[in-house]
Amino acid sequence: MPRLVMKFGGTSVADLDRIRNVARHVKREVDAGYDVAVVVSAMAGVTNQLVGYCRDAAILHDAREYDAVVATGEQVTAGLLAIVLEGMGVNARSWQGWQLPILTDDAHASARILDINGAELVKRFKERGQVAVIAGFQGVHKETGRITTLGRGGSDTSAVAVAAAIGAERCDIYTDVDGVYTTDPRVVPKARRLDKIAFEEMLELASLGAKVLQVRSVELGMVHNVRIFVRSSFDPPEKINPRDNPPGTLICDEGEIMEQHTVTGIAFSRDEAQISVREVLDKPGVAAAIFGPLAEANVNVDMIVQNVSGDGKTTDITFTVPASDYQRSLDVIAKAKRAVGYARLDGATDVAKISVIGIGMRSHAGVAAQAFKALAERSINIRAITTSEIKFSLLIDAAFTELAVRTLHSLYGLDKAA
Ligand code: ASP
Ligand code: MG
Repeated sequence: MPRLVMKFGGTSVADLDRIRNVARHVKREVDAGYDVAVVVSAMAGVTNQLVGYCRDAAILHDAREYDAVVATGEQVTAGLLAIVLEGMGVNARSWQGWQLPILTDDAHASARILDINGAELVKRFKERGQVAVIAGFQGVHKETGRITTLGRGGSDTSAVAVAAAIGAERCDIYTDVDGVYTTDPRVVPKARRLDKIAFEEMLELASLGAKVLQVRSVELGMVHNVRIFVRSSFDPPEKINPRDNPPGTLICDEGEIMEQHTVTGIAFSRDEAQISVREVLDKPGVAAAIFGPLAEANVNVDMIVQNVSGDGKTTDITFTVPASDYQRSLDVIAKAKRAVGYARLDGATDVAKISVIGIGMRSHAGVAAQAFKALAERSINIRAITTSEIKFSLLIDAAFTELAVRTLHSLYGLDKAA
């Protein structure tokens, strides 16, 4: 029988009524002939509360104990869902990370999955037709046997890893939105739900802060070629025909995407800050003197622009950092002033980064040039630009964020038909 992983996030299991709703989704797929492994998150708000308890107990606490505490949220949901499924006549058993086991490294609070034993689940599918209800987010360190967790949002990664381990046909991620959109529909009402998006594109979107999926789950899906389907748990369970293209977005290999657009989506972030180091000497070692200390201070530098020096002597270096690291970054550079040797430090926090993403850009020239023209026509000034194979990003004044996103969304033909 084909195998399916169904993952339900915190809002989808927020209370017993919603857990019953989840059970009906599961029953539907079992009835349709799937062997099902379910991966659940903690009930909405529970993980935050558990994290809060740890912090209140002691600001500096042992990460091993943090994991022992926060992993409990998923244990509760897994047990409850198994109870509800059994009550509906669906054979089901719950599994904690250590029971399967889901083996991880020992990076407590942000552990990586090393191996999952899928064989026991497959055996139970075959012998008993039993649904496996697996606690997401948690695993066990392969040597110490201690409980680990995978970082916030980690249940997505658990689900994709389980799908790879049991050779599932698909990993369905049920959430409170019905898919991945061309951009944030709250900003651009004309945003469309995508039927399909390539792993690489989704990786960019997720890294840029589209909060549908944990970035690592997309990486894992890409490496193991696990098809991930993002869909809503609030669609009435019995109204869906599993064989008839239910609404949602499939994240898959680009080879599976027939209808190819040049641009697939537009992401934006206002959580950026710009720093300009003015009049540094145009000589080897200056960039290292700036970015070395920032790296040591764990600041994630994103866009970097260095001007060509006009007089052969000095130039400016501009870059962006997360807004939350802005002041710290200025301090780090001020401290390195002697080594860097600059005249002035300028900065701005009222900036936004707009990113245009699409694997079609690999084979189309001039995609970014169209954006420059369209923004210029609206008098939007571009402060910095970076490009990669399937993406370009523009730094602009934050006040123009919505106008810029809407302009580009129309420009690349992403608006939904009226
Ligand atoms: N419950 C965990 C969290 O809130 C893991 C998850 O929901 O994916 O981060
Ligand atoms: Mg989540």
